[in-house]
Amino acid sequence: MDNENTRNETRRPMGILVTNDDGPHAPGLVALALALQTVGDVHVIAPNRNWSASGHVKTMHEPLRAHAYTLDSNVPALQISGGPADAVALGLMGLIDAPIDLVVTGINRGANVGHDITYSGTVTAAIEGAISGVPALAVSLDTYDEHADYAVAAQIAADLARKILEKRLPSKTLLSVNVPALPKAQIRGIRITRMGTRIYRDALVRNTDPRGQPYFWIGGQPPTGIAEPGTDFWALANGFISVTPIQLDFTAYGFMDTLRDWETER
Ligand code: MN
Repeated sequence: MDNENTRNETRRPMGILVTNDDGPHAPGLVALALALQTVGDVHVIAPNRNWSASGHVKTMHEPLRAHAYTLDSNVPALQISGGPADAVALGLMGLIDAPIDLVVTGINRGANVGHDITYSGTVTAAIEGAISGVPALAVSLDTYDEHADYAVAAQIAADLARKILEKRLPSKTLLSVNVPALPKAQIRGIRITRMGTRIYRDALVRNTDPRGQPYFWIGGQPPTGIAEPGTDFWALANGFISVTPIQLDFTAYGFMDTLRDWETER
């Protein structure tokens, strides 16, 4: 018992870097930061605007600015002029003067399922953590409701953060979590899932601006998906929290031998 106490006294708190892609004042960000304060020391670095669907960004051709601000509930934070992955990169490279053991992103307004993860600033910020060798967790809530309740998603984020810190993740692997926008009592449980298939219904809107110049806008309907059993989309459609392990190796191993048969190797 004495040993246990000594260990706890000398062990430093876990450092958790939190960012999002919905911007510095998004309610999902503060909900996530507050929940994670029960797990470790939380350092928030938010992008300065809504960077949703920005993909994996690295700002290299202009300066990045950072300034302090305060989230609701008096959570101290930084906001930067770059995107979500920039926030993680800056934090891990020294903008945060403390060791970072875990990167957690979100809570995003809107699910990130199937190939959404390649568009998502939320997931790509977590990918930045994984690339840098830090375990990472991306959290998204399956609603676009501006008044959504992030409490359930925040709780599951804290639970999974504890689990990751205790059990670790494999190298170059992150978790993407999607939470149904349902009251807690109606959520049926948690399922480990694979990436499903999103069906994008984008449509090009062409119009003319007030100066007479044409412009284009990617419009259309919100995406749907195929609720194939075992997928992230299926879990959400059936009232389960979806937890998908994501690996950074995109190689299509099954195609390599066929490609060799093309005799392109020299
Ligand atoms: Mn977003």
